[in-house]
Amino acid sequence: MTQTHPDATTKLEEGTQISSREKLLELASTAGQAGAWEWDIAANRVAWTNSLKHLLDLDSVEFDGTPDRLAALLHPDDRETLRRGLAEARKLGQPYDAEVRALRSGGGSQWLCIHIEFVRDGDRDARLLGTAVSIESRKRAETALLESEQRFTKLFSASPLSVTLSSIATGRILAMNEAFTSTSGYTREEALGRTTMELGLWPTAEDRAAVMEAVHALGAVRNRIVHLRARGGEERLGVLSAERVVIDGEPCALTLLEDITVRERAQAAARDSEQRLRLALRAASAGVWQMDLGTGQIFWSDEFRHLYGYDEHTSPSRETWALHLHPEDRERMLEDLRTRLKPGTDEYRREFRIVHPTRGLRWILALGQIERNEQGRALSMTGISIDITRLKEVEQELREADERKNEFLAVLSHELRNPLAPLRNGIEILRLTNGKGELAERARAMMGRQLEQMVHLIDDLLEVSRISRGKIELKRAPMNLTSALQQALEVSKPLIDAAGHDLTIDVPPGPLLVDADPIRLAQVFGNLLNNAAKYTNPGGRLRLTVGRDGDCVTVSVGDNGIGIPPPMLPKIFEMFAQVDQSLQRTQGGLGIGLSIARRLVEMHGGTLDARSEGPGRGSEFIVRLPLLAAADTENKPTERTKHEHGGAHPRRILIADDNQDAAASLALVLEMKGHEVRTARDGHEALQVAESFKPDVAVLDIGMPLLDGYRVCERLRAVPAGSEMLIIALTGWGQTEDKLRSEKAGFDHHLIKPAEVDALEALLRKDEKK
Ligand code: ADP
Repeated sequence: MTQTHPDATTKLEEGTQISSREKLLELASTAGQAGAWEWDIAANRVAWTNSLKHLLDLDSVEFDGTPDRLAALLHPDDRETLRRGLAEARKLGQPYDAEVRALRSGGGSQWLCIHIEFVRDGDRDARLLGTAVSIESRKRAETALLESEQRFTKLFSASPLSVTLSSIATGRILAMNEAFTSTSGYTREEALGRTTMELGLWPTAEDRAAVMEAVHALGAVRNRIVHLRARGGEERLGVLSAERVVIDGEPCALTLLEDITVRERAQAAARDSEQRLRLALRAASAGVWQMDLGTGQIFWSDEFRHLYGYDEHTSPSRETWALHLHPEDRERMLEDLRTRLKPGTDEYRREFRIVHPTRGLRWILALGQIERNEQGRALSMTGISIDITRLKEVEQELREADERKNEFLAVLSHELRNPLAPLRNGIEILRLTNGKGELAERARAMMGRQLEQMVHLIDDLLEVSRISRGKIELKRAPMNLTSALQQALEVSKPLIDAAGHDLTIDVPPGPLLVDADPIRLAQVFGNLLNNAAKYTNPGGRLRLTVGRDGDCVTVSVGDNGIGIPPPMLPKIFEMFAQVDQSLQRTQGGLGIGLSIARRLVEMHGGTLDARSEGPGRGSEFIVRLPLLAAADTENKPTERTKHEHGGAHPRRILIADDNQDAAASLALVLEMKGHEVRTARDGHEALQVAESFKPDVAVLDIGMPLLDGYRVCERLRAVPAGSEMLIIALTGWGQTEDKLRSEKAGFDHHLIKPAEVDALEALLRKDEKK
């Protein structure tokens, strides 16, 4: 039984004055948030200290001293517990301790820790003494702790981050949350008590060791990108943070992992797609832009910057953009932005010029989409810009080509009409003279020349159309370049001589073998020589120079004539191009010769270029052709090479052909090779010449007037001198039966036109050996 000081009971009566010692006690109680009361059981009266009154927040309340009033202060939930507890304590004769809630006068409750003892008087409980101490702040702290723990647990399990707690010493997983099981693919049962290495989460032991070492050394790792392997080997990418914590005295690692696999894949896909778009835009030289039409602010892409030549420091705005526009387009474009974006169209398509800091004038095509508000006001515009300079250039070229074509048609009609008047006059003269007499003869000659002119023109035109349709086929064979030059000279010489030009020829000794079509090459050189003669004032100096340059042979045709303005140099090779048209008309050109020549040279794998210092300073045209390598000529008869150096034995050769040009040029070439040559225009003449000239060799065209080649051959063979003669048929017909027929007529060989000098020479040498 607890002994209570008798003073304590006497001084607790209601309304009793208290001494200063008691006052001190009262003060201490108040400060300690404590109070006391006494219940006189017999009298059924309760007395309490002021500090209790204060504690229960009842300072202003009158207390009637009844135990019921005191009991009413208890929280209803605690009343029964207290009653039973007290009854029990009383029965056992023990003091009673409990934590209960007391109601506050202003609402709510507060926790109190109460201690109650019974004071006996004789054999009965006379009084009950109680003390109460506020434990509100402790209770609050306890609740807060509980709540915080609950919150943490919730956070732990509901976190989208995968969280694990594992022992640093053993590496075993002690706890984990839901996110861990879904990221790793392992169930709680599978993972608990095992290490992450055992689960195979880490691709290599080093990967794990690196993280653990960092946790050890630094206490934590933060935001480390890690590659992990989920159950089944699926790769996961994560951001890992881990921290060293001590749980129940054991050092542990708390690991948080954010699974960024999906996000990373999406980002990579977005990056890829952006990269593709970027590449496509760059390939198209296109830049992306967006303009706020209110503020004039612009967003522009890197490609856009490149397009305009802005550096990184250029701040994007309408003003900056306007500054780089071509001065002639600037006002138009700004005015256009101000006025033309009215409702009605959402498309923006403009072409304009800019001045690029290094590339100069460029043409830009801007394509945009206008965005409007509900009232239809243009707010902004988004689009791309493309460099269309090349397109514009091509457009210009096409326009020029079209103009040239028109000019050409004008020239052509003029040229075609020119010969018509003389022809008409000629017919009139023939009619008047009945085709007889010297006048008629002159008219016929004149008509022939005019007709020739027309034929020439029409041939050129046909050639152009065949070349442009790719219809020309080269008849290529290994040949000596000089023979094509000789043929060209043959044709151009009259024109050169007529103008009184002085021609210098410079050809290196030895053969210059090319794989070429002799007729086409002769045509090219003839054209260049003719031009040199035409575009040089009478009495000029022309120069034909042949040289080797590595694997190539160069043929240069130079003159000291009217020259070519440098800007025209590349143009003169274009179809219908003429430097000075008034001049061309008098010369009878159409401006197509050089274009044909260049195409032909290119078809041979060569190049044709022009040089000139300018008007009045002469011109030079250079043909460059690949030489045949030694290996390509190995199969050719060695005699040929021997001959090219030493020459064949001089022979007496008769050439009969009704095509006089063909006969004359072949004769010239053979003469240049040291042979003695005579020509005949028909079969009869051939026989006559043969009789007096006594040739060793006869080259006979088959289709000749009066007497054809077969007959001539038979007759030649019929006389003794003819039996030893080498007789060669020269014909356009190459069928086997033609060959048989010529053999039957007595020919030794059968050559197909046009005659290749080299082939002919080979036959001559073959004959020598017999
Ligand atoms: P054509 O002579 O029929 O006009 P070409 O195609 O042969 O046509 O030549 C084109 C133009 O090139 C000529 O009209 C002339 O203006 C210029 N040209 C060609 N050769 C020479 C040259 N040797 N000297 C000066 N100008 C030349």
